[in-house]
Amino acid sequence: MADLVSHPDEVKVVSRRFGLGAANLDRYLELDGYKAVQKALAMQSADIIEEVKKSNLRGRGGAGFPTGLKWSFVPKESAKPKYVLCNGDESEPGTCKDRLIFEHDPHAVIEGAVIAGLAVGARKAYIYVRGEYRYLSLIMQKAIADAYGRGFLGKNIFGSGIDFDVFWHGGAGAYEVGEESALMESLEGKRGIPRIRPPFPAVVGLWGGPTVINNVETLASVPHIMLGGGEWFANLGTPRNGGTRLFCLSGHMNRCGVYELPLGYNLKKMIYEVGGGITGGRSLKAVVPGGSSTPLFRADEIDVAMDFDSVAKAGSMLGSGGVTAIDDQTCMVKFALRIIKFYQHESCGWCIPCREGTDWIKKSLTRFHAGGGLRKDIDDVKYLAQNMLGRTFCPLGDAAAMPIISIVDKFRDEFEAHLEGRPCPHAKEGDAANALLPMLAH
Ligand code: SF4
Repeated sequence: MADLVSHPDEVKVVSRRFGLGAANLDRYLELDGYKAVQKALAMQSADIIEEVKKSNLRGRGGAGFPTGLKWSFVPKESAKPKYVLCNGDESEPGTCKDRLIFEHDPHAVIEGAVIAGLAVGARKAYIYVRGEYRYLSLIMQKAIADAYGRGFLGKNIFGSGIDFDVFWHGGAGAYEVGEESALMESLEGKRGIPRIRPPFPAVVGLWGGPTVINNVETLASVPHIMLGGGEWFANLGTPRNGGTRLFCLSGHMNRCGVYELPLGYNLKKMIYEVGGGITGGRSLKAVVPGGSSTPLFRADEIDVAMDFDSVAKAGSMLGSGGVTAIDDQTCMVKFALRIIKFYQHESCGWCIPCREGTDWIKKSLTRFHAGGGLRKDIDDVKYLAQNMLGRTFCPLGDAAAMPIISIVDKFRDEFEAHLEGRPCPHAKEGDAANALLPMLAH
């Protein structure tokens, strides 16, 4: 079980039931649970969508697409059943927020999924939980069973005449399945690789039916929007970026943890005040602002409002909310190598730029970090990464390339410091990279 942290600047909306025992259905009901779905049952689908549009809720999985707009793409009439799919395959390094929602407020995810279903005309929802989150799957399964037991799911929910089923599904542990079309493949029992789009899931999704796919935090926000109103939620954030966000603070910060802060909160303040500054009194070198796939900021670039538009304007992405601080003792070549190793391992291998690009960058950086790099390798690494951008079937290619390009651009001096067989300036005695030196230096 994860420890909870708190800070006075937090605005608790999605996390307001954390630590209050809301996984228990009776406790959830005491804390306004299942009131939002009853309100939604009395509304027209179009009005639910309108309220969510008004809230400026944007997808919390990474892309930040407006949720109400996404729901409005689902056709009203469909010969095939429609579905809601909750993407709980949280796998982006640096991101650990959805697991807290599953653990502390599982009924909010169920309630959000049912409301999404009412909005788009679906009568079945699937909650896909990451394979590594097995203990959370048990919590979700119990919550679903309890909701069926009270008549909140199943036939004639809340006496409304509407039937609604929610299913849990455990993944097998693959980063790639966090991509929405790969998620559907996996749920259908196939290998979890992406589909070619179009058609998009809103029109042709799960088992060919129109499907709305939302992240866990996105769906858990929906009941609060239904009760508090779209306008209230929108006003918590910045224009076009409604509400709050669960930010996952990790790396070299004194008070790492998951904090719920309004969208637009300043990144510098987040690191130095909420996160308590850099460990060991050292200084900050770089920040990953939104999970490992996002371009890095240098320490002098972090006076940024943390909302989707402001971070994009500053040259990166808000992504999945994973904020990682990197101190001045960290080797950025090694950091880039660590990132590319992850993506190379997770690449499904379907498209050549991703499959070969991640592998070549990994090989190049491994040699480089061990002191066997040539000056031209610096540009070659960037060239390889640039040739992955926008040339792959799914966003994993971009996810691997973007941080690498930013590291080469912003920390070129650190690559140069490894040239001509010089050992990594940040290596500690006994580091594996240094042990490789005699073999690779030339
Ligand atoms: Fe597979 Fe990578 Fe291509 Fe995505 S980008 S489809 S992970 S090979």
